[in-house]
Amino acid sequence: MGNDTHKHKGQRQQLIDALRAKEIHDELVLKAMNAVPRHRFLDSSFEAFAYRDAAFPIRADQTISQPYTVAFQSQSLRLKPGAKVLEIGTGCGYQAAVLVEMGFKVFSIERQKSLFDFAKLLLPKLGYRLHQKFGDGYLGMPTFAPFDGIIVTAAAPSVPQALLEQLAIGGALIIPIGEDTEDQVMHRITRSDESKWERESLGLFRFVPMLKDVNRGG
Ligand code: SAH
Repeated sequence: MGNDTHKHKGQRQQLIDALRAKEIHDELVLKAMNAVPRHRFLDSSFEAFAYRDAAFPIRADQTISQPYTVAFQSQSLRLKPGAKVLEIGTGCGYQAAVLVEMGFKVFSIERQKSLFDFAKLLLPKLGYRLHQKFGDGYLGMPTFAPFDGIIVTAAAPSVPQALLEQLAIGGALIIPIGEDTEDQVMHRITRSDESKWERESLGLFRFVPMLKDVNRGG
C-alpha cells in the first residue's frame, strides 16, 4: 500500500480531466497535480477516495483541501517556475507539494504541531524540498520576504497586514476572506507598488478557520 500504481495514475488522469472541465487551464498546475501522489497524503482509510474532487478530514480536525480548490488557488497566483511562494497552512502538505512540483521555491507555515511533524516527514520522503516552519501564519516569514506569491489555505476574518507587507511588488496574495460559519470569498490582492494593493474577488469557497493562538486547540 502507498506506492504509486497504474491504478493511481489512471485515477489521477481522470481527476485532471475533471479539473480541466471545471476551467482549470494552467498547464503548469495540471501537470503538477498529475504528478503528485495525493493518496500518500491521506489516511489509508480514505486512500480509495484520494482522486475524487473532494475535501477529506486529516488529523487535528483539519482537512486536505479539495483538488479543485488547490488547482484554483495555484492557478490564481499566475506565476512562472522559479518564483518564491509562501503557503499559510501546510496541513498534510498536499498543496505545498503541488507548488514545489510547479517549480516554485516554496515556504510553508503550520501552527499545529502534529500536522507540522507529519508534513515535515512526508514531503522529503516523497522528494519534495521546501522550507517548513512551525508557527503562526499571521506573521508570515519576514526573513525570507519578499514573496512573488502567497497562498492562504485557511479562512481569514480579515487580511493579515504582515502578509501584505511581505509581497514583492507585482506579487499576489490568494486568500479566502470571511467567517468560518459561512462561505468565504477568495481574493487576489496584487501589490502594484510600495504602498498600493489591488483587490479582486474570485468566487466563493469553504475553508477551515485561520486561527490565532499558536500551539492551542485541535
Ligand atoms: N494546505 C492544506 C490545507 C490544510 S487546511 C492542503 O494542502 O490540504 C488549513 C491548515 O491551516 C490547517 O492545517 C490549520 O492547522 C492551518 N492553520 C490554521 N490557522 C493557521 C495559522 N494561523 N498559521 C498557520 N497555519 C494555520
